[in-house]
Amino acid sequence: MQQDAIIIGGGFAGLSAAYILARARRKVTIIDSGEPRNRFAAHSHGALALDGKSGREILAEARTQLATYPTVTFVEGEADSAEGVIDDFHVRIAGQKPIAARRLLLASGMEDRLPDIPGLEERWGKTVLHCPYCHGYEIGGGPIGVLATHPMSAHQASVVADWGDVTLFTNGMPEPDDAALALLERRQVGLQAGLVSAIETGAGKMMRICLANGRDFEVRALFVGPDMHIRGSIAENFGCALEETPAGKIIATDVSKATSVAGIYAAGDIARAFGNITLASADGVMAGLGAHQSLMFAAAHS
Ligand SMILES: Cc1cc2nc3c(=O)[nH]c(=O)nc-3n(C[C@H](O)[C@H](O)[C@H](O)COP(=O)(O)OP(=O)(O)OC[C@H]3O[C@@H](n4cnc5c(N)ncnc54)[C@H](O)[C@@H]3O)c2cc1C
Repeated sequence: MQQDAIIIGGGFAGLSAAYILARARRKVTIIDSGEPRNRFAAHSHGALALDGKSGREILAEARTQLATYPTVTFVEGEADSAEGVIDDFHVRIAGQKPIAARRLLLASGMEDRLPDIPGLEERWGKTVLHCPYCHGYEIGGGPIGVLATHPMSAHQASVVADWGDVTLFTNGMPEPDDAALALLERRQVGLQAGLVSAIETGAGKMMRICLANGRDFEVRALFVGPDMHIRGSIAENFGCALEETPAGKIIATDVSKATSVAGIYAAGDIARAFGNITLASADGVMAGLGAHQSLMFAAAHS
């Protein structure tokens, strides 16, 4: 049966969009592969009234609530590809029948690619972090490292300095320019040149940043700006316009979260420069509203 909308990605943005469409009594299918971006962290912070809950717990509760709406269908799996035009989209999922819908809502999130340093990946979301607003408070001050990965890393280090005594490890990136050096000095950020060769367990709850030159430093946490990529190629294959941001490419959308392709909406981290649970959820609400309004007013038959 043709759906009013298919949502690709049942994370914070996708499920928020689903509430809007479900409550408008629209037929909505949510396809989700169950890998929200924050799955590496045991707890989420900073979302209204949800502080300290795990991301998975929040999403599971939302799914339970959504499942009570009779027009909502969940499909577990990965949307491989999609084709079609407004009012007649088809989404393929490995090993399952294609699903048809009048609108598509892309909410598949971003993939974080981390620098290839032994000991880094297994600490991601625990003591290797990207957002001080999400996890900086729990560090409790003390020595903190920032690993340079892009030209904005000096800025990141100067922000993280509000949460502890920060050292910026340049790790082969070009030395900060004079303006960045002045900022680091003003924010009392230390600078360590040289390649980072490994991250190891230090004394107590500390971890050790080992440099190739033989020096090492103990820190409570290490902040990294990961290389972020839109998950999957569905937006690209449809020719959705992209936008370059300091965080990488995102899908360009208008105020109603419509992409450049008629009938396709995008929400959450894939469609905004700075992402967190609250912003992704708000984005999903807007995309849900946009898709619903378009079903009522833009289509040939409503
Ligand atoms: C380590 C870490 C910790 C974080 N901690 C916090 C925090 O404490 N507080 C906070 O506010 N923010 C936090 N964030 C940010 C937050 O996780 C993201 O902003 C948020 O998850 C974005 O929501 P989203 O719905 O856009 O994408 P996601 O939550 O990533 O959801 C996308 C969903 O789409 C699915 N998917 C992807 N491709 C497909 C496909 N082709 N077919 C079907 N399904 C697909 C994925 O499996 C996933 O379930 C953290 C991020 C990280 C990396």
